[in-house]
Amino acid sequence: MARRKKIYEGKAKDLFEGPEPGTLVQYFKDDATAFNAEKHDTIDGKGALNNILSEYFMNGLTQIGVPNHFIKRLNMREQLIRSCEIVPLEVIVRNYAAGSMSKRMGIEEGTQLPRPIVEFSYKDDALGDPLVPEEYIIALNWASQQDLDDIISLALRVNDFMSGVMYGVGIKLIDFKIEIGRVWEGDFMRLIVADEISPDSCRLWDIKTGEKLDKDVFRRDLGSLTDAYTEVARRLGVLPGNVANAPKPTIVH
Ligand code: UDP
Repeated sequence: MARRKKIYEGKAKDLFEGPEPGTLVQYFKDDATAFNAEKHDTIDGKGALNNILSEYFMNGLTQIGVPNHFIKRLNMREQLIRSCEIVPLEVIVRNYAAGSMSKRMGIEEGTQLPRPIVEFSYKDDALGDPLVPEEYIIALNWASQQDLDDIISLALRVNDFMSGVMYGVGIKLIDFKIEIGRVWEGDFMRLIVADEISPDSCRLWDIKTGEKLDKDVFRRDLGSLTDAYTEVARRLGVLPGNVANAPKPTIVH
């Protein structure tokens, strides 16, 4: 791998300087974390699977005109992306109650919601990514009302796309998280889908059996995470060869 500057080190991904201005290389690691990184493990093949799955979903979004950061996949673990300024929010869309919503509201996991719900958490590990009302976001100037409306409509488009794609392969999209970035084109600012879309950031249940095919397998010790993600990739027809032996991270100075 050519030597290049690391821009950001995340829990599951690193970002490197890209080959051209305005681009970055996103490197998918095999690290899995949960509960604000209290639980941590290395899972062979996870990085390569998420790289290929995120490519698949972002390309699909491009096809239907949902702007996103993806440019092209470079290899098993890396993709070229557009550099953007990340809005410090986790945008969560829920179709069925699960996880923190079930806990907070006492609604049984798997209960279908009357309509998709979009909610926001403030991306701050020290605070544990707290849920934030829209009013905070506007009052604290993280996004304008117009931005928020645009973010909600992007999130709902992603939801319809992802729900449909998953339904086609016998999987129920329970909920997911996306991140949004800002890019400037001249004087215009545009909001785009950034980060990743993968089983790390979605809840995916087999429609027939209810089997979990997402990061809850790791969070809740339900079996092999690689097997679950491999099954998602297999059903979508994007299973890469030999993911467990994809090259490991290389230290770059
Ligand atoms: N999620 C995520 N990153 C986070 C928090 C949540 O990708 O830091 C995803 C999670 O995988 C699920 C959805 O967002 O698909 C809703 O998560 P929830 O709020 O229920 O939180 P959790 O139960 O994971 O703490």
